[in-house]
Amino acid sequence: MVVPYTHEPFTNFQDSSNRAEYEAALQLVKNELGKEYPLIIGGERVTTEEKLVSVNPADKNEVVGTVSKANQALAEQAMEKAQEAFKVWSGWDPEARANVLFRAAAIARRRKHEFSAWMAYEIGKTRKEADADSAEAIDFLEYYARQMVELKDGEAINSRWFEHNQYTYQPLGVGLTISPWNLPFAIMAGTTVGPMVAGNTILLKPASLTPVITYKFLEVLEEAGMPAGVVNYIPGSGREIGDYLVEHPKTRFVNFTGSKEVGIGIYEKAAKVQPGQNFLKKTAIEMGGKDTIIVDNEADLDLAAESIVQSAYGFSGQKCSACSRVVAHEDVYEEVLKKVTKMTEELAVGNPVDEATYMGPVCEQSAYEKILDYVEIGKNEARLVTGGSGNNEKGYFIQPTIFADADPNARIMQEEIFGPVVAFTKAKDIQEMIDIANNTDYGLTGSIISNNRAHLEKARREFHVGNLYFNRGCTAAIVGYQPFGGFKLSGTDSKAGGPGYILHFMDPKTVCDQF
Ligand code: NAD
Repeated sequence: MVVPYTHEPFTNFQDSSNRAEYEAALQLVKNELGKEYPLIIGGERVTTEEKLVSVNPADKNEVVGTVSKANQALAEQAMEKAQEAFKVWSGWDPEARANVLFRAAAIARRRKHEFSAWMAYEIGKTRKEADADSAEAIDFLEYYARQMVELKDGEAINSRWFEHNQYTYQPLGVGLTISPWNLPFAIMAGTTVGPMVAGNTILLKPASLTPVITYKFLEVLEEAGMPAGVVNYIPGSGREIGDYLVEHPKTRFVNFTGSKEVGIGIYEKAAKVQPGQNFLKKTAIEMGGKDTIIVDNEADLDLAAESIVQSAYGFSGQKCSACSRVVAHEDVYEEVLKKVTKMTEELAVGNPVDEATYMGPVCEQSAYEKILDYVEIGKNEARLVTGGSGNNEKGYFIQPTIFADADPNARIMQEEIFGPVVAFTKAKDIQEMIDIANNTDYGLTGSIISNNRAHLEKARREFHVGNLYFNRGCTAAIVGYQPFGGFKLSGTDSKAGGPGYILHFMDPKTVCDQF
């Protein structure tokens, strides 16, 4: 028996002892910057000539780590090692597999601030954002371990008097996890350990911007007792090894989180049955968002402003769930816009390791350029209210930006910008607000701020997103409390942190024993 799941609490940074511990972790990580990291294939460390260099986006001259880079030959080696490991790991008692995750959770919890500090340096997370990322990673370990324990004997089904029927789940084989940089601990860990605890073995290709934190997590899994070859660490180019492994005839499933463009490509490639492949690949493909907060005319406007600011600018808007569109009722539009603008102009943009910073940099030069290109597009499509400028002398800093009076079909209202940019539009009633919110290719998250219960109930039925929130922001889903995933071109809605998540990576089997 395991105790019921509860989520990992967030650190209270008002408490001076927590602050001191976090500062100590920052120092510890700072002393570790610039080291080299090998690949991990079948438990062996493999060093390559070609490297990925991970840099601090707040200080582009600071090297966080230099990481070996896998090519197709090494990806093939990893596939073979994972095949071998599968033979053993799939036969482990499911509870013993779960125990590896429980131990990993304990180790990660003990070193939580250290992991958060790595994210401060490697991807520019402020302490609050990094702490939430670490907590979510721990939650995934705790939650999926319990899910495996619950599912280990399958489901109860009927039998007639002359037979005994069983319905159980079995693992698939070797799968590929491809993770994004924006939740470099939580999503990377969750999309790895979910299929892993189910008895599969994993080829883990992390995002090229965040390979160091991934390596640190592999060390945790090893310390927790994961056998060699169960998770293989193979950072590398998405095009080179990503495509190769997606198309590989022995890859049983692909667990992808990232952009719409890459996700759709993977979905298509994985669908093709390759020579020598005698199964259909399973895919969990979680992609982007263009997420809306609706503000009704009967609403707490301070709550609305607070929810918008938090959802739009947390981690510089680089969340799939980030609010990038506000649809406000015409009666309250100007007032909400004014409140949000005032709060936005007070936000401290700076180095994420500084305690006072609310918003750090964006992740890299190409993102910096893309976001500022969208700002230029926005200037032709709408009214720039605040922000709109950047500074990349030291790191990739962009001012939090607001556009007003945007047409619902404008590009800044339709395309994922993935930066600190939010566009406002107005509508005359609840129907029009929901219609505008639904007018995108995406369907990931959304919120409605309203004191009108009938309007909330209408949104419950008609606001077409995988994660809908009433009277709060649209980010910060918690594992096991708000299972996460989107509709439409936001993905296959595999609901990370939800009941049945690990079933995406298992085959149910029926056995009828007649006597
Ligand atoms: P991305 O699509 O650029 O990269 C994601 C991963 O795919 C990386 O590991 C990358 O190296 C790899 N990749 C790139 N090309 C590939 C190819 N041809 N074959 C195989 N792999 C390939 O996305 P990103 O910039 O890392 O992350 C940001 C995106 O992720 C945003 O669109 C965001 O909305 C989305 N996201 C979605 C969720 C969700 O749960 N729906 C969560 C976080 C982020």
